[in-house]
Amino acid sequence: MTDASALPGQPRGGVLSGPATARAVNVLAPNASAMTLDGTNTWIVAEPDSDLAVVIDPGPLDDEHLRRVLATAEQAGRRVALTLLTHGHPDHAEGAARFAELSGTRVRALDPALRLGEEGLTAGDVITTGGLELRVVPTPGHTADSLSFHLPADRAVLTGDTILGRGTTVVAHPDGRLGDYLDSLRRLRSLTVDDGVHTVLPGHGPVLDDAQGVVEYYLAHRATRLAQVETAVEDGYRTPAQVVAHVYADVDRSLWPAAELSVRAQLDYLEEHGLI
Ligand SMILES: [Zn+2]
Repeated sequence: MTDASALPGQPRGGVLSGPATARAVNVLAPNASAMTLDGTNTWIVAEPDSDLAVVIDPGPLDDEHLRRVLATAEQAGRRVALTLLTHGHPDHAEGAARFAELSGTRVRALDPALRLGEEGLTAGDVITTGGLELRVVPTPGHTADSLSFHLPADRAVLTGDTILGRGTTVVAHPDGRLGDYLDSLRRLRSLTVDDGVHTVLPGHGPVLDDAQGVVEYYLAHRATRLAQVETAVEDGYRTPAQVVAHVYADVDRSLWPAAELSVRAQLDYLEEHGLI
């Protein structure tokens, strides 16, 4: 989900469908909308020369898309060995059970309700499939169950909806919390600064090649919005809807319901920190 509140100077990227790094290929789902940008990015990740692949976020329940994901892996000589979810929103996870059925794989996710098979996913887990290494990075905030996957060999991170290829994401109150989200952005920044990650493979929108710049932009954007919300409250805008109409006046009205979730998360944060 996006709140589409892009600021000038936002980084731009490329690759919407097809190979993005040495190990990651995107199959774009046909579910484009204001909230999902060009559609959901379904990622097939594999070690070069390996016959095993991992699929991250099968996407919506669309048989044609799910079969295209399988065919893309098979055409590269690979069998899908595992399905992972970045979080439980339907545009990422709704097709997971059907995809697991088509591919004969297990589904691993943070939320037990989304799993198929015994194994879950927790912070610090390292997935090793066919020589591929993916490190599980907890990134709650967009939702409580949001995860990112660090792909060290490609100096890349798959971010789900925590960072998008365009615009900024929604903190989906009440499940998503702003304090968690800011901590998650700082965790991703440390991946870029300390671990050399330079590519963001997002859940929607194009691939971004300046990971640190993107994270800094997201942190700056959140700080700007938070200050605007704080000022709006001080100026007498009281309800979340009033704050949205004032602070998000420049954003298309179709996105206001999503913006209201982010505003509710920001109001909670400001109250918890004694700022309003
Ligand atoms: Zn989402």
